[in-house]
Amino acid sequence: MLSWDQSPSLALMQRERAWVEVNLAAIAHNVRQIRSLLAARTALMAVIKADAYGHGATTIAQTVLQAGATWLGVATIPEGIELREAGIDAPILVLGANHTPEQIRAIAHWQLQPTLCTPRQALNFSETMAELGGYSPLPVHLKLDTGMSRLGTSWEQAAEFVHLVHRLPNLSIASVYSHLATADDPNPAVMNLQQQRFEAAIAQIRATGVTPPRLHLANSAATLADPALHYDLVRVGLAIYGLYPAAHQQGVVDLRPALQVKARVTQVKTISPGTGVSYGHQFVADRELRMAVVGIGYADGVPRNLSNRIHVLVRGQRVPQIGAVTMDQMMIDVSQVPDLQEGDVVTLLGRDGHQWLSADDWAQVLGTISWEILCGFKHRLPRIAVSQSFASRESVQKFK
Ligand SMILES: *Cc1c(COP(=O)(O)O)cnc(C)c1O
Repeated sequence: MLSWDQSPSLALMQRERAWVEVNLAAIAHNVRQIRSLLAARTALMAVIKADAYGHGATTIAQTVLQAGATWLGVATIPEGIELREAGIDAPILVLGANHTPEQIRAIAHWQLQPTLCTPRQALNFSETMAELGGYSPLPVHLKLDTGMSRLGTSWEQAAEFVHLVHRLPNLSIASVYSHLATADDPNPAVMNLQQQRFEAAIAQIRATGVTPPRLHLANSAATLADPALHYDLVRVGLAIYGLYPAAHQQGVVDLRPALQVKARVTQVKTISPGTGVSYGHQFVADRELRMAVVGIGYADGVPRNLSNRIHVLVRGQRVPQIGAVTMDQMMIDVSQVPDLQEGDVVTLLGRDGHQWLSADDWAQVLGTISWEILCGFKHRLPRIAVSQSFASRESVQKFK
């Protein structure tokens, strides 16, 4: 299916220094798990913005469409064009706002579907489409702000907004949607308020005689939280990649992380007690210590603030990272792994034997969220697609 499958030697060459492995079998599994939550009327949009949360947009798009997603969501027009150039013809919603004539021309040309956030944007689109000529009406998705306070027209003005777009030439309303601010919170109060506002807006829109063909509200967390939030389509990002939006949602369905980060040992040495390691000597050996240098650093997307605060896996064992993470390299304490060799593979995220390290672990150390960790891996790391059967998380012993 993919060129690396036909050319394993190329894949091996890419595993030289440091790389990201993306398990497409896990992605397909997650898509099927999420679909199992959805009623027949509800379509699955895979949100693959930010290069599919660092997993590689084109490969992920092909995989999710094969596994049962029917829509794709991106943040920007160039992200959409990349998919079209790769030959992907599924409907693509651009979640961000666009309004210049150049942006509108690109959207029409590449058959992307824009989000319209204000009456002004709708007028711009309608006028520019008229000037361009020769296109059928552009499917547009109207964004309501029900409490996220980001993009969209206030839910209180939804009826005027939607009715205006309904009457404009060259546009065709494909959906009305909104976005939830707190769907991952165990307390559903704000989410419920947003849904009530969405429902009230839809009732007012219908009262003007317009029936939007599609409504949507749910991100990953809402999709896992409550079928009443699913409507005609769910926009799922994080869960596709195998992470749970919130700890209390673990196990709602069986999600398997698809991304692993690996690098090779480039040198092994013994240091004596009192020896400082890396910039600033943030780590000082308190005993004779066997250490290894690993060829990955913050320029690859391993945050420097993880220095001295994480473990990595090597030869199936969990060992501490020591000293400051540098731009291209980091050090680990391998005193407990006497048979370690230069060239051995170190797993920073993912699985080695019965051990497992998750983006959630890093997020917890850094006080951030797994979304940011996944998006942080740089293009210097080749993305290598693999397709391996994958034990469920529960069957892999997890150490904290
Ligand atoms: C990113 C995004 C999503 C997906 O969010 P997840 O929490 O990753 O599922 C859905 N809708 C909109 C508007 C987004 O920007």
